[in-house]
Amino acid sequence: LQGTVVAVQANYYWVRLQETETPISSPLLLCTRRTRLKKMGQRVMVGDRVYVEEPDWAGRRGAISHVLPRQSELDRPPMANADQILLVFALAEPEIEPYQLSRFLVKAESTDLEVCLCLSKSDLVPIDEQARWRDRISTWGYEVTFLSVHQGKGIAELNQRLSHKITVASGPSGVGKSSLINHLIPSVDVRVNAVSGKLAKGRHTTRHVELFELPLSGFLADTPGFNQPDLFIAPQDLASCFPEIRHRLAEATCQFNDCWHRDEPGCAVRGDWERYEHYLSFLDDAIAYQTHLNQQS
Ligand code: GDP
Ligand code: ZN
Repeated sequence: LQGTVVAVQANYYWVRLQETETPISSPLLLCTRRTRLKKMGQRVMVGDRVYVEEPDWAGRRGAISHVLPRQSELDRPPMANADQILLVFALAEPEIEPYQLSRFLVKAESTDLEVCLCLSKSDLVPIDEQARWRDRISTWGYEVTFLSVHQGKGIAELNQRLSHKITVASGPSGVGKSSLINHLIPSVDVRVNAVSGKLAKGRHTTRHVELFELPLSGFLADTPGFNQPDLFIAPQDLASCFPEIRHRLAEATCQFNDCWHRDEPGCAVRGDWERYEHYLSFLDDAIAYQTHLNQQS
């Protein structure tokens, strides 16, 4: 039997099995990990695709016997096989703060996962203002999808983008992320309610992550831990987190190999593009963070 780990609680794993293989519907089993896996030091993470043996359908229990190779691995939140990040910001209430949005984007880029940027509450701002944001953010190298949960706008397209994938939702609080998730996953049963209830205590800790099954297949993870846009990025990795810089370096090269694109001569990146100031500011943070790490060790 094959399934996906949707939540982890101490040494127990909630596994959603592929429906076609099971005699019960919505098969969610509470599983242990085979001793062999423990001995191998094989960790089991949320998002892992696993094989389950000895299902006890009445007791809804099983044992994980095998973990399939991971496509990706995230640290914060600890998660396997995520395909993309759904980043939600609101057009209003709260208004978009470009520097903060930039931080979230860079953090998302640092994971190497694809970023799907949505601007919510589109019912609150006129169409020309939406167009201004779309044009502005396209100069950053991103497309945006406008959403309104209240008007049901953009939901069908979003559902398509999420189908058959594991997506991590991210964004500052108040942007309507919970409303969106509830809208996308209307059935309480699909929201792995059994798990939520039992895990209620740990839900808002940064280490906790849980996958919700989507109607068109696929999973969505909502993680409070992902909301802190702390950038723990090595200074030399920062440039690759900006599409504008990737684009410039595809067309031209800096005079120095190890150029930090600050005040070095012959820099191909420095210029009057909007987020250059953000880059410089994040670079200062990244250098300070690295210095701090070096002093500790
Ligand atoms: P979260 O903190 O990101 O989870 O945000 P919530 O889902 O709790 O929503 C915050 C506030 O935004 C609530 O008052 C919602 O009613 C409101 N909200 C959510 N979606 C929309 C929307 O599409 N349009 C408008 N106008 N308000 C929304
Ligand atoms: Zn440079």
